[in-house]
Amino acid sequence: MSYKDFYEILGVPRNASQEEIKRAYRRLALKYHPDKNPGNKEAEEKFKEISEAYQVLSDPEKRAIYDTYGYSGLTSSGHRRFEDVGDIFKTFSDIFEEFFGFTFEEKSHTRPRDGADLSYEVAVDLEDLFTDKEITLDIEKLDLCEDCGGLGYNPDKGLKICETCNGKGKIVYTEGFFRIAYACPDCRGRGSTYVEICKKCNGSGRAWKKKQIKVVIPAGVEDGTILRIYGEGEAGLYGGRPGDLYLRVKVKPHPLFYREKSNLIGNLKINFVSAILGDEVKVPFFKETLSVKIPPGSQPGDELVIENKGLPDPKTKKRGDLILRLQVELPHNVSEETKKLLQKIAEKEKIDGSTNRLEPYQQEKKKKKESFWKKFIFGSR
Ligand SMILES: [Zn+2]
Ligand SMILES: [Zn+2]
Repeated sequence: MSYKDFYEILGVPRNASQEEIKRAYRRLALKYHPDKNPGNKEAEEKFKEISEAYQVLSDPEKRAIYDTYGYSGLTSSGHRRFEDVGDIFKTFSDIFEEFFGFTFEEKSHTRPRDGADLSYEVAVDLEDLFTDKEITLDIEKLDLCEDCGGLGYNPDKGLKICETCNGKGKIVYTEGFFRIAYACPDCRGRGSTYVEICKKCNGSGRAWKKKQIKVVIPAGVEDGTILRIYGEGEAGLYGGRPGDLYLRVKVKPHPLFYREKSNLIGNLKINFVSAILGDEVKVPFFKETLSVKIPPGSQPGDELVIENKGLPDPKTKKRGDLILRLQVELPHNVSEETKKLLQKIAEKEKIDGSTNRLEPYQQEKKKKKESFWKKFIFGSR
C-alpha cells in the first residue's frame, strides 16, 4: 500500500478548514472531471485520487483516523477506494450538485444507468441434448456506440467551455434582494458542451448492434430451462453495468421419443408371435441401431428398459434409461388355413371363450400398474 498524502493531493495545509478543503476539491474536480477529459486515463486516475482525498478529509472521523494512523489505519477501519467514476458521482451527487449546479435532468443524464436485460428463446432438438452443445445466437441490442464509446459526442473534437455560462454551469441573476441561480440550459449544468454531437448515436451514447454470441446449451436441459448469460444484455450508460441475457431453451418434440426427466420413452409395436415366442428387433435410435430382445411371453404394456441410453442428467451428467413400452399388434385378417391352425392351437392350449371376461375397473388399473413395474432390464451394449 503506497503512502498517500491527501493534503498534498488536494494542495491544502494540514490544518486546512472544511471550507478550504471543499474549495480545493471543487477546483481540482473541475479540472479532472471525466467529461472534460474524455478517454484520458491519467485524468481519470487523478479524479479518483482527489475524490478519495476529499472523501477522507471532508469526514471529520475519517480525517482523525488518517491524521493519527495514516492510510493503513483507514483501510483497516473499512475505508476502500472508489471502484470507478460512477461510484464517485453516486457518493458525491449532492456535492457535485452544489459545485456545478446540476439540475435534476442533468443528474438523471449522468448517473450510471444499468443496461436492460434481454430475453431470447432458442429451440433445440432432442438429440442435441446428449452432449453440451455450443450454438451461435444472433441478437440485436443497444450496445455502447462504437464511434463515441458511449459519450454521445465526437471524442476527437472533444468538449469546449460552455459560452453561455462561461464554464460555471449556472447562470446567476439578481432581482431586487434576490440572487437566483439556475442550471445553464445550454450545457445543462456541466459547464462544458461538446463540439460535435456523435452522428452515429445522435448523442444517446448507444446504438443498435447485431451481435453473434456463443452459448453452450448444457446436456440434458429440460424444456423451458432459462439460462442466464451475464453481461450480454443492453449496454449500461455512464458507467452503469450491462444487463444480462436470459435464454429460454425450448426442446422440440421428437416424433418417436419423449422424455420423463432423463429417461426417454418410446412405444415399440411388435407382432403377437414375437410377443409370445420372444424375438430380437432392431430399433433405430438417433445415430445408432439398438438390438432389443423381446422376452417370450411379453404382454402389451410391458416395458423394456435399456439402461444408460436416456439423456444425461443436467446436474450429475449420469444418463437415464431408454424405456420401450410394448404394443402388441394382432392380425386383422387371416387365411382359412391360419384359422384352422389357430383352432388347433386353441384346443391344444385349452383356450376357449370361458376365460373371456369383464374386468373390474380397479383391478384392471391395478393390473396395468403391475405390468408397468414389470420391467426387463438390459444393459446397453
Ligand atoms: Zn453552460
Ligand atoms: Zn455515439
